[in-house]
Amino acid sequence: MKPSDPGKLDRVIAEQRRLQDERAQSYRERALKIYPWICGRCAREFTHRNLRELTVHHRDHNHDNNPPDGSNWELLCLYCHDNEHQRQIEAATGTGSTGADAGPASTHSPFAGLKDLLGKKGDPQ
Ligand SMILES: [Zn+2]
Ligand SMILES: [Zn+2]
Repeated sequence: MKPSDPGKLDRVIAEQRRLQDERAQSYRERALKIYPWICGRCAREFTHRNLRELTVHHRDHNHDNNPPDGSNWELLCLYCHDNEHQRQIEAATGTGSTGADAGPASTHSPFAGLKDLLGKKGDPQ
């Protein structure tokens, strides 16, 4: 066995980054081809000059979900994109929703409903 190459991990990471960039670049390009260059929230229009400020948002927040028809994409300007994600964070942490006496964020369990589902389905008798 050869001793592990200390530079290998770096190269693998660099390669991953490159692939990620490439993928981001390609879905961005495709999204810009499908959709008009207008922010989906504030209707700001974009041209080649300021196109960098127009971002591709993933509706389900899953950057790996890139259907060819573009149904998971939404073109948003930087500000609206920020807002969109801010809302998501606020929804997740519960900040900004209730009054001052909200207390600590509730313990969110993604499997809370799953147990019920399994209990109903998996009847042993
Ligand atoms: Zn906007
Ligand atoms: Zn986004």
